[in-house]
Amino acid sequence: MFLKLFSLSLIIGFGFLGSALNFEIPTNSELFLMEQAEERVTKKPFGLYVSPSDSPVSPERFSGYHTGVDFEVFEDERDVEISIHAICEGKVRFVDWVSGYGGVLIQDCIFDGLPVTVLYGHLQPSSIPYKIDELLQKNQMIGVLGEGFTRETDGERKHLHLAIHRGEQLEFKGYTFSESGLESWLDPLFLF
Ligand SMILES: [Zn+2]
Repeated sequence: MFLKLFSLSLIIGFGFLGSALNFEIPTNSELFLMEQAEERVTKKPFGLYVSPSDSPVSPERFSGYHTGVDFEVFEDERDVEISIHAICEGKVRFVDWVSGYGGVLIQDCIFDGLPVTVLYGHLQPSSIPYKIDELLQKNQMIGVLGEGFTRETDGERKHLHLAIHRGEQLEFKGYTFSESGLESWLDPLFLF
């Protein structure tokens, strides 16, 4: 079994050697979502309840429990390109413009042996070079943040909404009406 796998990997390895040389993607390396990721979670952590009358963000047009984590940009980054990188290895499931987010990429991943979908929201649509079924490596760049208060972010401030939904089904909800609805999601900060 081991020998079979070994020779198979050799064949695959040689077959893809040419193209593999063009990409320098470290595997098994520390997670790199974006520069200073942890310092950016300052407004909307996972599970926070918001409404138009009570939110750390103003104006707020959503209500419910936050299904993801928001990573903010710093004051001097309004006009700076902020690159976003995949948090795991897995195929692209969805790329398009979505109401409430602007540019969105959703990726299939496996955590602890269980399938999840990972949603990256408020990306600049034209910066995402991938199509459905393309395999992304962990830490591979997937695009840059969309410009705030434009169609790229569907009118939201410049930031990343990162959400991990349990199972293989695509789910776009940024908020759930009930707190128990959060059980279908994971707090992405467990990765950091
Ligand atoms: Zn969010």
